[in-house]
Amino acid sequence: MIYADNAATTRLDPKVFEVMKPFLTEDYANASQPYSFSRNAKKALNNARAIIAECINAEPEEIFFTSCGTESDNWAIKGFNYKDRKQIITSAIEHHAVLHSCKAMERNGHEVIYLKPDHNGVIKEEELINNISDKTGLVSIMYVNNEVGTVEPIKELCKIAHDNGSVFHCDAVQAVGHIRVDVKELGVDMLSSSAHKFNGPKGVGFLYIRKGTDIFPYQDGGAQEMSMRAGTENVAYIVGMAEALRINCEQMEENEKRMRQYEMIIKEELNGLEYRRNGGDRTSPGNMSLSFKGKDGEAILHLMDLRGICISTGSACTSGRTSISHVLEAMGIEEEWAKGTIRISLGRFNNQEEAHKIGKNLYKIINRN
Ligand code: PLP
Repeated sequence: MIYADNAATTRLDPKVFEVMKPFLTEDYANASQPYSFSRNAKKALNNARAIIAECINAEPEEIFFTSCGTESDNWAIKGFNYKDRKQIITSAIEHHAVLHSCKAMERNGHEVIYLKPDHNGVIKEEELINNISDKTGLVSIMYVNNEVGTVEPIKELCKIAHDNGSVFHCDAVQAVGHIRVDVKELGVDMLSSSAHKFNGPKGVGFLYIRKGTDIFPYQDGGAQEMSMRAGTENVAYIVGMAEALRINCEQMEENEKRMRQYEMIIKEELNGLEYRRNGGDRTSPGNMSLSFKGKDGEAILHLMDLRGICISTGSACTSGRTSISHVLEAMGIEEEWAKGTIRISLGRFNNQEEAHKIGKNLYKIINRN
């Protein structure tokens, strides 16, 4: 099996599993208890917070552990104290964790503006400038789009929000561990992340909340997470997340080089086929959204699956009708191209030989259908 759907989830790094193990077995103490048996768990939590903070250039007290990227997005959008600025600005190409949180806010009387991307999936600064006003409390834009890999101009968008007196949240679930994320340089007030996207375990994530950001606690109960997110901490998974991020950050440069090389290999293997790559000039390493005119992405996915290769599509087949993803639709990708869209997302555990096989098999499938 060749796994090329790393934007959906990644393989747990075996080294990460090793550091998690003691906290699933002998070191099972509740980190909040005062006796010495809890000392290791407590120390591990503090250490994980410090490692994660260092990886994104934050302070440890600004890192709040959550159960996943979806929870982090929900907390940032639903927990922010809007006061008299009830309007939210987001984009039409966000993950549903953001879009559906915004829908929930609309039901509660908030106005939400959905910015349109350009043809490459880029949210242009002018779009935000033209829509932002003294009604805007929160701007929420993703760092890397999960479907097409576009890297958004977060620093510039964040500055526009701040100049307007608005707070900025960034869904960086597809960015953290893949491209350099420096919260101070970007200027963001809140940033969401999820461990299973960077070779950590599933079911754990974090929300960065800059000191001074006016946000309510997300879960009520005990005093965990500085009384902002109650619930006994999942020590093993948090430790795993920190180790995974540390390894990915350490290998980031070398990894990016490798991903770009594999992208080239696939491109060369597809030589002679008519297709378009979506996402523009700045895409996250290894995320390739390819459109084949007049083809069916769903059929390509299944034919690749029969050949033992996992990829994803840009469309979903519901009751016999292929519907185009909200991302491709917002980008204005024509239907005949959008329906034939697939996503190959490479990761740290892929190799050169696999890249050749992905390209060769895809070529054969497209050429035959
Ligand atoms: N945001 C983006 C951009 C994503 O790609 C995903 C997952 O696919 C999420 C949020 C949700 O993360 P999780 O699966 O950890 O809930």
